[in-house]
Amino acid sequence: MGTLLIRPPGHRRDVALRPAATAMVWVGEGHPHETIAVPGVALADGDALVAVEMSTICGSDVHTVRGRRSAPTPLVLGHESVGRVIAIGDAGARTVDGTPLRIGDRVVWSVTVSCASCDRCLRGLPQKCRDLGKYGHDRVGAHGDLTGAFASHVQLREGTAIVRVPEALPAAVLAPASCATATAWAAVARAAKDHDLDGASVRIHGAGLVGLSAAAIAAEQGATVEVRDPNVDRQGLAARFGATRLDRDPDVVIEASGHAVQEALAGVAVGGTVVLVGSVFPADPVPFDAESIVRRLVTVAGIHNYTGAELAEAVAFLAGRGRAYPFADAVGAVRPLSEIDAALREATTPQAPLRIGLLPGQ
Ligand SMILES: [Zn+2]
Ligand SMILES: [Zn+2]
Repeated sequence: MGTLLIRPPGHRRDVALRPAATAMVWVGEGHPHETIAVPGVALADGDALVAVEMSTICGSDVHTVRGRRSAPTPLVLGHESVGRVIAIGDAGARTVDGTPLRIGDRVVWSVTVSCASCDRCLRGLPQKCRDLGKYGHDRVGAHGDLTGAFASHVQLREGTAIVRVPEALPAAVLAPASCATATAWAAVARAAKDHDLDGASVRIHGAGLVGLSAAAIAAEQGATVEVRDPNVDRQGLAARFGATRLDRDPDVVIEASGHAVQEALAGVAVGGTVVLVGSVFPADPVPFDAESIVRRLVTVAGIHNYTGAELAEAVAFLAGRGRAYPFADAVGAVRPLSEIDAALREATTPQAPLRIGLLPGQ
């Protein structure tokens, strides 16, 4: 009996992997991950194959394995990684800045895969592409097995925003860039469309990695930033990410926790902007006081994921002025990829660090 391989049509280049790549497959709530060996991949013309240096566990991975978010199984979870390019499809691939990707490049890449030609992509909303793919979110199969970060390798498809990263930056700084840092960058950029952040007052709800990253980004743009979080330890950490106290109502409120939407809407100054970025999981609906929003001339904006340009800007920040902040400390524990189940359990505990790193090949 042979093995039947079903592949989408089109030119592909077979790349053998010795030793085989490893992917941790999540089969459903309450089940341990299953390890699969992937001895080779078929790269489409614009694909690239990356060997993962480090991946980190994001809150949404934890929500998925706890059954709080529906996901198509079997699935390779994870969408925060840094890695190195080891193979490229025959047509070549390009980074966000337009330069050709090369073997050996150290890179991060977007959560989303977009078509670049639909109406939403053309409007500058690639993260809402009509034919959207997402690493760590799509069932294994049509796009191969290496579709998530909890693996030794990830197959990057054409339409992924790929950003070259400096060798000098620690993997712990870079792995969360493709979710937490880039999302924080997009949230602050949205606020900056309405308000000159130099001299502005900014309140951030939630001292998770998105909130802390947004604090540092806004502080570097000249804002006075306050971070609110029920966890006292996290408040101490926020000070290291540039947070202080506000002496007036905030011009900008960034809600990065998902649990303080009402507080965010009520607290913003007249003429202010509320950026909602934390409400990515189902939560109890909050009353919406339309009259108050109207009378106070408040703008409410939603941010979900980011564009390729925003990922590149987030990386440039980490490599530049962001070096003054303790981003590397966000990864408070590092585990072998093979211990994924224990690492995910650890990530659910109240004392869990902001991120747990996973290292393949150990
Ligand atoms: Zn994430
Ligand atoms: Zn599109």
